[in-house]
Amino acid sequence: MAKVKTRLYIRDRLSEQKPVSLDKQQSHFLKNVLRLEVGHAVALFNGEDGEWYATISHLSKSNCELLPVYLRQEQTNPRSLRLLFAPIKKGPLNFLIEKGTELGVTVFQPVITSRTNVEQVRVERLQTNAIEAAEQSGRLEVPVVLPPVSLTEATLKLSTNDRLLACLESGEAEQASTYSFTPVQSISILIGPEGGFSQDELDSLRKNSLVSAISLGPRILRAETAAISAIAVFQSQHGDWNERPKKTLWPDSFPLKP
Ligand code: SAH
Repeated sequence: MAKVKTRLYIRDRLSEQKPVSLDKQQSHFLKNVLRLEVGHAVALFNGEDGEWYATISHLSKSNCELLPVYLRQEQTNPRSLRLLFAPIKKGPLNFLIEKGTELGVTVFQPVITSRTNVEQVRVERLQTNAIEAAEQSGRLEVPVVLPPVSLTEATLKLSTNDRLLACLESGEAEQASTYSFTPVQSISILIGPEGGFSQDELDSLRKNSLVSAISLGPRILRAETAAISAIAVFQSQHGDWNERPKKTLWPDSFPLKP
């Protein structure tokens, strides 16, 4: 069996033999970067219809048409895991989105706190990063990057079944690895800015019955390290770490261009 190396996220619906088109950038990527040709195969997913193997039926500089031929994996959706984070500098932020996507975050919510010192959040660029990380990590859906909201707004949005795990580097807090919750509860992890939360913010977080203070140990972590550690600990306790990646192999029954 041949190995299919390329996975692409598309917005079109996917069903057997129904042609789909790629945008200019993806077409350029297949033709000029990967140097694929008509008859070659890629894997496609759209967050709704599972992952399909598709063969290229037409390829030019600005357009590519593909035919989905084989449903490789039925659609499944991961448990919701929201990451609320105070925006940080570009490099660490890209890293945060990429690693968070690999680790199974379903929603990225930038949160403006009083000590947030990053002025602009480029939601569209972050969404592109999330798409790329989803493509390479074998996810069947792409996490959503939402426009920023204030910390107050984010906490007001919590409903009774939500739990906000506020990672706090000082004061009383529960160890991340022993945190327990009921299955109906939907979990958000909150990470503060490089300057930490203000006293007012800490007071109102601690007063809120939907918020649990969480410790990630005695060292002060950078925001991106704190986020990735909290996600990993949560996933290892309550996530899908008992499942294994699926190998991307092309079935023998479909002729392929070598
Ligand atoms: N106020 C700090 C640094 C904040 S670190 C200072 O300048 O001294 C950025 C964020 O990472 C914090 O707001 C917190 O959400 C998280 N964080 C860092 N270390 C942590 C720890 N040991 N436990 C829990 N959260 C931590």
